[in-house]
Amino acid sequence: MSAADAARALFTERFGSAPAGTWSAPGRANLIGEHTDYNDGFVLPFAIEHRTHVALGPRADGLIRVASTAEDADVEVPLAELDAIFPARRDEIAFWARYPLGVAWALLRTPGATAPTGVDLAFASDVPVGAGLSSSAALEGATAVALAEAWALDADPVALARAGRTAENEAVGAPTGIMDQMASMLGRADAAIFLDCRSLETHVVDLGFARAALELVVVDTGVKHSHATGGYGERRAACERGAATMGVPALRDLTPADLDRARELMDDVTFRRVRHVVTENQRVIDTVRTLREAGPAAIGELLVASHASMRDDFEISVAELDTAVEAALSAGAIGARMTGGGFGGAAIALVDRDRVGAVTDAVTAAFAASRFAEPTIFTVTPSAGASRDV
Ligand code: ADP
Ligand code: MG
Repeated sequence: MSAADAARALFTERFGSAPAGTWSAPGRANLIGEHTDYNDGFVLPFAIEHRTHVALGPRADGLIRVASTAEDADVEVPLAELDAIFPARRDEIAFWARYPLGVAWALLRTPGATAPTGVDLAFASDVPVGAGLSSSAALEGATAVALAEAWALDADPVALARAGRTAENEAVGAPTGIMDQMASMLGRADAAIFLDCRSLETHVVDLGFARAALELVVVDTGVKHSHATGGYGERRAACERGAATMGVPALRDLTPADLDRARELMDDVTFRRVRHVVTENQRVIDTVRTLREAGPAAIGELLVASHASMRDDFEISVAELDTAVEAALSAGAIGARMTGGGFGGAAIALVDRDRVGAVTDAVTAAFAASRFAEPTIFTVTPSAGASRDV
């Protein structure tokens, strides 16, 4: 059964009627631009074909009720109480339900929102959870696009992405940027979204993977990461320290030409954290230009340089990620790099369609030889963003 059908079936099973419609939003992968978002920099994510679907129906009693195929219990709250629940009493709400209820809360605070009558929401998803593909942004995006239409809100995709981020930051309590939500809202088939994380300006960037017969392979190492762990906080602190030392609001305001001076002004560790962010921002810009001028087969070196920078300068890679990247490259991948926060998670590889099998086999064999747990390997296709399902 498709996830859209599963959402409709769950709606009928739990709520006893047919939904008014279904909406959906995708997960995302990030082609390049890692740890640049919180430095006001650039990222280049794309929406993937895996989506979270939501079936929605109105109700007349002012309640919002949410159900998911991934959860046994429904959660039900009066809309009028959301303001009292978030963020102070969020612990009273089942963890997963804080995402959709947090989006409803954020949307009701947008100017011009009128008090709606209540709503039932039933979710089903084929986005892998916790694999670095942002199932959380897919859940938020599906909720946002469905409620915006049901409640006739005057909210553009950027406003809906902001509501998702508010839910994630304040209702869930995860200190993430807005990249995932922007990619999930704005994605296009065979294109990436260039995002300036300072201005929130976006451009659609044609990827041309289909024309060039390229596939994007994801290697989920299964190694668990947590954004809340010390490593992430330390990297953020080093970036702030580096920017302060250089007298700029954020590392985004530096270019590679500033690195000689940075090396003189700060300790070696802080300098290398700064160098990763500054060179990674430049690599995002270079990737956009290379895609336009030479096509996707020419971006391999930039992906490899991004990995080396995260491994050596930012020091957030782990043996499993390095092994995935090296094995993919030696089996003929055009480029490969770790992606996401680091300390585990997934790597991506850009691969000729007829080499996907060879790359998959090489990574699987390399993991076995190193006695790592078997990775989950699959391809993702750059796809359209959030919308109403037909
Ligand atoms: P990811 O990298 O997949 O975004 P997160 O930890 O940010 O990982 O978000 C995963 C969480 O989002 C899950 O633990 C769950 O609470 C929630 N979630 C995602 N998809 C669903 C779903 N279909 N139904 C219920 N909860 C979901
Ligand atoms: Mg997430």
